[in-house]
Amino acid sequence: MTVKTSVQRDLEALKQHQQVIADIQQAINLLSWDQNTYMPPGAAAARAQQMATLSKISHGYQSDAKVKTWLDSLEAAGLSAESDEAALLRLTRRAYERATKLPGDFVEDFTRQRALAQQAWIAARQDADFAKFAPSLQTMVDYSLRQADYLGYEDHPYDALHDLFEPGSKVAKLRAVFGPLRDATVELVREIVQNGRDLSDAPVHQVFDETKQEQFAVEVIKDFGYDFERGRLDRTVHPFAQGISNSDVRITTRYSQDFLNPALFGTLHEAGHAIYEQGIADAYQRSPLGNAISLGIHESQSRLWENLIGRSYGFWQHAYPRLQEIFSAQLAQVSLDDYYAAINKVEPSLIRVEADEVTYNLHIMIRFELELSLLEGSLAVTDLPEAWNEKYREYLGITPSNDAEGCLQDIHWSLGAIAYFPTYTLGNIMSVQFFEAAKRDQPEIEKDIAQGKFDKLFGWLREHIHIHGSKYEPEDLLKRATGSELDARPYIDYLNSKFRTLYGLPPRQG
Ligand code: ZN
Repeated sequence: MTVKTSVQRDLEALKQHQQVIADIQQAINLLSWDQNTYMPPGAAAARAQQMATLSKISHGYQSDAKVKTWLDSLEAAGLSAESDEAALLRLTRRAYERATKLPGDFVEDFTRQRALAQQAWIAARQDADFAKFAPSLQTMVDYSLRQADYLGYEDHPYDALHDLFEPGSKVAKLRAVFGPLRDATVELVREIVQNGRDLSDAPVHQVFDETKQEQFAVEVIKDFGYDFERGRLDRTVHPFAQGISNSDVRITTRYSQDFLNPALFGTLHEAGHAIYEQGIADAYQRSPLGNAISLGIHESQSRLWENLIGRSYGFWQHAYPRLQEIFSAQLAQVSLDDYYAAINKVEPSLIRVEADEVTYNLHIMIRFELELSLLEGSLAVTDLPEAWNEKYREYLGITPSNDAEGCLQDIHWSLGAIAYFPTYTLGNIMSVQFFEAAKRDQPEIEKDIAQGKFDKLFGWLREHIHIHGSKYEPEDLLKRATGSELDARPYIDYLNSKFRTLYGLPPRQG
């Protein structure tokens, strides 16, 4: 007979408590998926109410005084730092702190202000008139600063906000890593524009049957390892991936009749997100360990499949003949080289979500730098459009003709999501760090990809990233998988090597 110690009893009680929270969260996720796919528009108000109620119940569990009692006793029990239990305590502590540091009336107020800001943003964007959104943006900045104060920070309020999306990531590090990436990218874009050979993207701008587009994309993501037994693909205006649990991770896509790229690369991107969540360990389900650890790590997985594989020459050596077979009328006469150039054409543009692989991060740099200035008070909200346009001139050499294609294009700030944007670039940077490490460990990966085989890469990602869920903090996970800290160098080298070759430019000096 075994007698349970108080540590075992507390641990069991905490785990059961967490299972309830996870079940509620999964129900919210499913309601959210339905809201964004098949829910009839008339159900919007009722759905908002259902989700608010579940969130409130979940918050009650997160901030329950019992959680603090369990944490205090278990943290003193000296569990091995490497154990799953220690990670569980760390994640539970973080959720408890977040749930209790923000006063209830502040949270309710912020939620209401966000809903108003979103309405103002929609109207302002429609009229391309920033003045209509400015007061709401000021409110979002003010509330974000208050939120940062409640949450606490050492160096910069941005750290407190950014931590909600990327645990442990700090402004000082972002500045140090982003600075060289920004300079190298600005330089590369300038050279491509001034001295690069002319590339045509006409091959991907033809009429492509939507059913066939879907057929091809589904074949590819099945080859990648997306499991349709535990997932599904639907159509939406704004594509997304939504995990319910690791046994149910759904993706959506939007099709353009006359442009191949959005649905194709969008599907590979969302499948990359979904493959990550499908791969989290079964043992971590119904626990905070069963969640993805951060948005940056998440994005590293989507970008890896979308760009490092999906836009690589090797991948298309195998996949292009099949695409030509499906779209023979459009592509039979287009060579692999011309197709590869078409899907990789670089062109400074105004809209972030339509940007190519090279210019994309400059859109993020601009937002990151402006967010910092807004929070620090060195930029007044009313001066945002001017500052925005100035940075687009400086980094990309182009100027928005109005605010809709300028500082009003993204929804994030109207949702109060300040300090979110850097996670996209973190994902790009880490995607190359992970991919390089995988190829170091398994040198056949590159050859495999050119033969349409992905099992070694998939297995490496599973073992080093996916399976761990939230056990390791992002920086720790990166270090364990790659042996390195966050480092933009491999990503800068990747961009230069790929795009200098493509554009017939000499190798980068120094
Ligand atoms: Zn993504």
